[in-house]
Amino acid sequence: MSDKPHQNLAVIGHVDHGKSTMVGRLLFETGSVPEHVIEQHREEAEEKGKGGFEFAYVMDNLAEERERGVTIDIAHQEFDTDEYYFTIVDCPGHRDFVKNMITGASQADNAVLVVAADDGVAPQTREHVFLARTLGIDEMIVAVNKMDVVDYDENKYKEVVSDVTDLLNQVAFPTEDASFVPTSAFEGDNVSEPSENTPWYDGDTLLESLNNLPEPQPPTDAPLRLPIQDVYTISGIGTVPVGRIETGIMNVGDNVSFQPSDVGGEVKTIEMHHEEVPEAEPGDNVGFNVRGIGKDDIRRGDVCGPADEPPTVAETFQAQVVVMQHPSVITAGYTPVFHAHTAQVACTIESIDQKMDPSTGEVAEENPDFIQSGDAAVVTVRPQKPLSIEPSSEIPELGSFAVRDMGQTIAAGKVLSVNE
Ligand code: GDP
Repeated sequence: MSDKPHQNLAVIGHVDHGKSTMVGRLLFETGSVPEHVIEQHREEAEEKGKGGFEFAYVMDNLAEERERGVTIDIAHQEFDTDEYYFTIVDCPGHRDFVKNMITGASQADNAVLVVAADDGVAPQTREHVFLARTLGIDEMIVAVNKMDVVDYDENKYKEVVSDVTDLLNQVAFPTEDASFVPTSAFEGDNVSEPSENTPWYDGDTLLESLNNLPEPQPPTDAPLRLPIQDVYTISGIGTVPVGRIETGIMNVGDNVSFQPSDVGGEVKTIEMHHEEVPEAEPGDNVGFNVRGIGKDDIRRGDVCGPADEPPTVAETFQAQVVVMQHPSVITAGYTPVFHAHTAQVACTIESIDQKMDPSTGEVAEENPDFIQSGDAAVVTVRPQKPLSIEPSSEIPELGSFAVRDMGQTIAAGKVLSVNE
């Protein structure tokens, strides 16, 4: 690990617009492709008499591997710039991208949106931009990619920039938080080096834009929130819940409360990376032990917080949702499974309160009879079992969820208010 501040980066965009190639290029040009992978490809290149070693050869091999059905996992790859240490969180196309993006571990701070210059704004471009906005991506760097395919034509670039700007305006994503770079992931133009092929462009390269992102502020000021992933019994210690601290600080000696199980006690020990530590902070994966708590007292989906500022348990909550895909219509009474942090709870959509106009964000209809794919709405939700969840304005890390049904993510949303 590096000492540089950390950034979680999402790479989003329509299929085939060049996301994987761009990630490969970024890793390659920052020297982050694992040595053994480079070595393997270098050897193969020499054997095949291709000589030398270049990016295209690595990517060809990745393409071959893909054809052979080997998954190239571009998620969870890491690279660094002068300022930051980046982790690429789940990428679209990954089965659980949307769900993961919303529910915690992989929450992205910023995003690179890849839009192919020859194809322009495509359906998934819209979908991902909408999602990025709903989920609170701070800054978006738009790579207008495959510039080589359009002969590095400035007018084509401007056209795509204008279309993407319209799209950002439509979903009310602040355009001052977006920047644009003409790239070719394949040829390497404006990725880490300014390209001679785009003399009309004198802005930052993609890597410079990433380097210039504002620093994400770790949520240490918020109260402790630690969603429990698992509960173990370890001989000599006792019950050890494990999870990742989303917000706040946990200290040995703190009085904590687990909700909705509604038990609590004093933190006796905290362990991280097999070592005891006196305190832990946001992003830390910890196991800890609380005096008097047995294995059956708490479970996955509980949230641990300070006893004097315990995690909120919702009787009902009001939320803003975006319906991504649903074969028919959603009406009041519908009860899919909500995934929020580590909890999965069936929840009834008790009422559909407002339908929003996505182009203005204003209310388009009060109490509509139904909503469907593409709609944004405010709904009132009643969990069928106790669920700990927070208003996203107060603790965004614990205020978003994915709605799943029939093996698909059908909607995503964030909590506006909680009725305890
Ligand atoms: P993804 O589905 O968005 O991850 O797209 P891929 O990275 O798999 O790229 C899809 C196809 O476009 C592949 O055949 C790539 O080689 C090609 N491609 C990606 N970026 C570029 C580029 O900048 N220029 C050209 N000519 N082809 C590209």
